[in-house]
Amino acid sequence: MAVERTLSIIKPDATNRNLTGAINAMFEAGGLRIVGQKRIKMTLGQAQKFYEIHKDKGFFAELTEFMSSAPVVVQVLEGENAVSRNREIMGDTNPDNAKEGTVRKKYALNIGENSVHGSDTLENAKKEVAFFFKDEEIVG
Ligand code: ATP
Ligand code: MG
Repeated sequence: MAVERTLSIIKPDATNRNLTGAINAMFEAGGLRIVGQKRIKMTLGQAQKFYEIHKDKGFFAELTEFMSSAPVVVQVLEGENAVSRNREIMGDTNPDNAKEGTVRKKYALNIGENSVHGSDTLENAKKEVAFFFKDEEIVG
């Protein structure tokens, strides 16, 4: 077991419905500590850069327009195996397939408006944390 940090984003569908606190409570109850957090509104260009890995997918325009449509809360979550632990707490990308008790089962509206983002590997987590946070903005 190793203490890791991962990048989480509470997406526009969730901030619009005032779910930041409810989702944070699920992360904290699941053993993750919020060691960095800020509410921002991404520009379309920022969202396109962040999701560059998906640029050839059919949903790229929908995804980047959605992510820049309203405020998001970007956060650094820390804990044992934080990358995989966070993805367990989030649940499947498609809420129809997400397990009971997960954030997406509880709150996601559909496969696109699915309330949260979480880094998928430790390597990507490091890149994604650095995309949004300076070292001094993370206090463990
Ligand atoms: P995330 O990267 O947001 O944590 P994920 O790793 O479960 O979620 P990815 O496959 O990386 O999912 O897709 C990134 C995001 O793109 C999804 O969270 C979702 O918002 C959106 N997305 C994925 N598939 C579709 C789709 N078929 N239609 C619309 N949007 C989609
Ligand atoms: Mg992903």
